[in-house]
Amino acid sequence: MPPRPPLAAAATECRLSAGGTMLRQEETDPVTTGRPCSVRLHGDVVVTNLVRAVGGPERARLVQEDPPMGFDQVFYLYDPEAFFGSLSSCRDIVHQMLSRTPVVGDFDLAADNWEGGFLPHDLASIILVMQTLGSVLDGVAPRSRYSNVDVCVTVRVRAVYSEPKALLLACKEVTAAYCRVMAARGGDDAGQATRECCVCMEDLAAFTDGSSDTVMLPCSHVFHNQCLVPWFSRRSTCPMCRRNMIMYLVAATKTPKGRFPGLEC
Ligand SMILES: [Zn+2]
Ligand SMILES: [Zn+2]
Repeated sequence: MPPRPPLAAAATECRLSAGGTMLRQEETDPVTTGRPCSVRLHGDVVVTNLVRAVGGPERARLVQEDPPMGFDQVFYLYDPEAFFGSLSSCRDIVHQMLSRTPVVGDFDLAADNWEGGFLPHDLASIILVMQTLGSVLDGVAPRSRYSNVDVCVTVRVRAVYSEPKALLLACKEVTAAYCRVMAARGGDDAGQATRECCVCMEDLAAFTDGSSDTVMLPCSHVFHNQCLVPWFSRRSTCPMCRRNMIMYLVAATKTPKGRFPGLEC
């Protein structure tokens, strides 16, 4: 299988969901065997690529579904007490393991990006329940011995390349480059004529604090990021002077970060 092209990360939103099964394997006693118990994470990542277009329908358009990418990684638990000790520590460790697993770790696994009924957090509760249940069935005190853990999981990724977001970022870069040139020449780089964002009519004071919540377009008009992204979803012009920014989007899809898979331009 050819290597997956890198995503134009900053303009790509990842929505993740996962489902899986967990097997509790043989009990292991790290003291007598000298072997730490292990957690095996294996399965597939299935990526669906979508594009949300500038001036297009609000619903993202399906571009392509990549073939499943397998992963198989074993982690050793040198401190099983920490792993099996509490739900929160088990969650954190599972999360760290997923982010260090090839293929899975390529995506932004932040808690906000998970949707549906199965988060990696749920994985932790299943692991703990299985471990406790196993100890009860075996008639030993919980946490006196630990199981090796085998988790088979399918991670589904909806990678939505947002053209409006890419256009905003591209405009930011163009303006920043222009401001650097002007600053080098000793000119004034704060070109906005207004003190308010003409999309929401709210104050733009944050801009003067160097906040990244606002963007100055190449025409020198300034807007809030969160106002301009929905605006760019409908049209590619500046809300103030109507200058068309679409040429910067073409440049954005060819950044060194790589083109989005299947994107035509
Ligand atoms: Zn605004
Ligand atoms: Zn303008």
